[in-house]
Amino acid sequence: MSHAQWASVMGLTQSEYDKTFQGLRPLSLLSVSLICDSLDITLEGLLVGELDFDLIRTRYIGQSGRLPERYSVAAFSKRRSIVNFLESLENFRGWEYSEQVRRFFQIDPTALSDLDGSINVLFFRDISAFLRKRGFSDSEFYSIGLFSSVTAADSSFAKVLSTLKTPQAIYEHAFVDLISFHERNHSYKVLELDKTHCKVESKSNQDIARALNVKTLGSRDTCIYRSGVMASTLSLVGLPEAHVHEEACEHNGDASCRFVVQYDHIQKSNLRKLELVH
Ligand SMILES: [Zn+2]
Repeated sequence: MSHAQWASVMGLTQSEYDKTFQGLRPLSLLSVSLICDSLDITLEGLLVGELDFDLIRTRYIGQSGRLPERYSVAAFSKRRSIVNFLESLENFRGWEYSEQVRRFFQIDPTALSDLDGSINVLFFRDISAFLRKRGFSDSEFYSIGLFSSVTAADSSFAKVLSTLKTPQAIYEHAFVDLISFHERNHSYKVLELDKTHCKVESKSNQDIARALNVKTLGSRDTCIYRSGVMASTLSLVGLPEAHVHEEACEHNGDASCRFVVQYDHIQKSNLRKLELVH
């Protein structure tokens, strides 16, 4: 980029730019902020200093659609989940907040057009830690998970589940047959399943954990988020959400995560409505 172009990006006249370049005029915060805007990054991201500069370079020369390298290796989650995080943040905190988070993590909007494209689980651990540092509570992480009934409403996952008639059948199909299409970071095993609840065990896939150089995949907060996603599964087919609690967690030192999904509050009238819809 030429000096004239830099001057324009930084909101300076050529003379102001020349003085700044020669160290005769201080670089204003406004100019730094304008540079960040033009590179689609945040000032905070610049100060933290963990930016993917190669990504900035390739996007600047017109190659869009890539995710940061950190999130591109051993990638077995769906990009639809990034959209879920960002759209729920927009819903709960407003567009500007969501946009700042997107830019901090250098998520190119073009990369989100492919909802079934992949991203690794480190992204969800990082964004959860970022939000937790800014005061997000357990119930907010759960609510972000619940929001997936909105962002996944048009998914093939929802279409398949909408053909089923009972919560029991929906969770059996979701955990036994469909989950591996949604994410492959964990292996799932249904431990209990009846008309009132489903208990499912989840274990980190060790091949992926080794590739990402971590012991377990995700974090306590991503498990709370996953609880909300599991609860929202019934909402995908028009039923009230289930209630989910995690009775054991790998991130608390347990051998596996165990989620109890309860749906005994779903009334026959709810199910009859389901019959009418389908
Ligand atoms: Zn867990």
